[in-house]
Amino acid sequence: MSQQSESFKKLVSHCKEYGFIYQSSEVYDGLAAVYDYGPNGVELKNNIKSYWWTAMTQMHENIVGIDSAIFMHPKVWKASGHVDAFNDPMVDNKQSNKRYRADQLIEGYCEKIEAKSKKDVAKAKKKFGDDFDEEQFRTTNQRIIDRTAKQADILGRMNNHLRDQDMEALKALIEELEIADPESGSKEWTDVRQFNLMFSTQLGNIAGGESKLYLRPETAQGIFVNFLNVQKTSRQKIPFGIAQIGKAFRNEIVARQFIFRMREFEQMEMQFFIKPGTQKEWFDYWKKARLDWHKGLGTDASKLRYHDHDNLAHYADAAVDIEFEFPFGFRELEGIHSRTDFDLKAHQELSGRKIQYFDPEINDSYVPYVLETSIGLDRMFLAIVSNALQEETVPDAEGKNSTRIVMKLPAPLAPVKCAILPLLKNKEELTSKAREVFDKLKLHFNCQYDEKDAIGRRYRRQDAVGTPYCVTIDFDSLEDNTVTIRDRDTLKQDRVSIDEVAAIVNDKVAMKSLFSIKETIS
Ligand code: ATP
Repeated sequence: MSQQSESFKKLVSHCKEYGFIYQSSEVYDGLAAVYDYGPNGVELKNNIKSYWWTAMTQMHENIVGIDSAIFMHPKVWKASGHVDAFNDPMVDNKQSNKRYRADQLIEGYCEKIEAKSKKDVAKAKKKFGDDFDEEQFRTTNQRIIDRTAKQADILGRMNNHLRDQDMEALKALIEELEIADPESGSKEWTDVRQFNLMFSTQLGNIAGGESKLYLRPETAQGIFVNFLNVQKTSRQKIPFGIAQIGKAFRNEIVARQFIFRMREFEQMEMQFFIKPGTQKEWFDYWKKARLDWHKGLGTDASKLRYHDHDNLAHYADAAVDIEFEFPFGFRELEGIHSRTDFDLKAHQELSGRKIQYFDPEINDSYVPYVLETSIGLDRMFLAIVSNALQEETVPDAEGKNSTRIVMKLPAPLAPVKCAILPLLKNKEELTSKAREVFDKLKLHFNCQYDEKDAIGRRYRRQDAVGTPYCVTIDFDSLEDNTVTIRDRDTLKQDRVSIDEVAAIVNDKVAMKSLFSIKETIS
């Protein structure tokens, strides 16, 4: 097993062992691509939501929130194009009976070509040392030039076939490239077919087309159909945005990689309504603003990158992804889409209601254009924990080297902000003092009282879930009202007055500390 997949396996089992994420319905052997969040998971998830919500609504006076229902009138999905076009190309291998997304098989083929080039780059780097110039190497090495051209040709053809919905051509491309089933090695494929990703259900007990409901595949449409309600009741003027966090459902053909691709997941979406013609300017604004939000968490800039879309969705005139380097490579974390007036116009046409904005500045009405930012909450969760989980060598109580597993979560996102630990469990005066401290601090932030096991083990337990501070109550605390406060990252222990603890912890865990980084990458 590669080192990468080994570390990913460790992450998945860590998430289970420490109450972050469990497989859904595990007692019945689980339900594929559906997961439950445990006690630490739900806290972290809520904190991520809060970081996003604060960044959108509190930090922008022209963005307001809503919480629309999961069920919507079936015509919503007709107008949005989801009934007709929310498809993925599906193909089965005849020998293994495994099902794949045709585009992902072709992308996987290209990733293998790229892996060869990366190997050549690594070799050359080793050979030339500090003088090595990767850019120059990539543009002059004939083998890499040929490979890059081949990849571009394949992906270009694939995108054309996807755009034209030409399933026969996609199958022909798979055959031409002699792509084999990763499981069985067989090259015998069925025809490629379109597969609609929406889950459907029935409203009440009425039969017929009108009663067929869909579980929403995105939260955005709840915002579009509420555009007029929100604009009028919040007295917003264009440009303004509507933010929403909520569940979305997609019957993904291949759902792997833990919570990266789920069938039930949560999205954090914001639709920003603008004057037609200003979309380029707002696209650039949100592209930068969203990257700043990610960087606000202290994520290493080399783990984040932009990826421009070659294959635009039917509603978009520009789109970029923010990709994160997950343990299995760079993948989409968030999408920023210039959605034009596609959605509002489509709802206007199908509903017969006028969905327009009267702009007092030009004394005229128009259908606003929309800039969307859309991020998967669960994918963000995975990005955060995979970035945070580390194995470190640190000195133990006797000064010897020992290994610790630590979640270096950004402090404001940590499930528990401060652990309160009486030095000994069976000394009533210590435990009651510790309880006193706990009762005081829990008014400020999420705390955990823990008296079980030796203090070193308790520290390790808190490190494993990312608690930024541990406060230990010992015999001196009874005399002088001071405690030891231990910092998760530096391991430094300071003696401070009990009255100072709340301020020290608050300073680090307050959400505002995440809003200070403003640099960008290109
Ligand atoms: P992908 O290409 O990975 O299928 P997408 O382009 O279909 O994603 P969007 O429709 O743009 O995704 O959805 C916005 C965001 O929602 C994505 O950037 C991702 O973070 C999240 N998301 C989409 N599908 C899933 C899923 N099945 N599970 C978890 N998160 C998802």
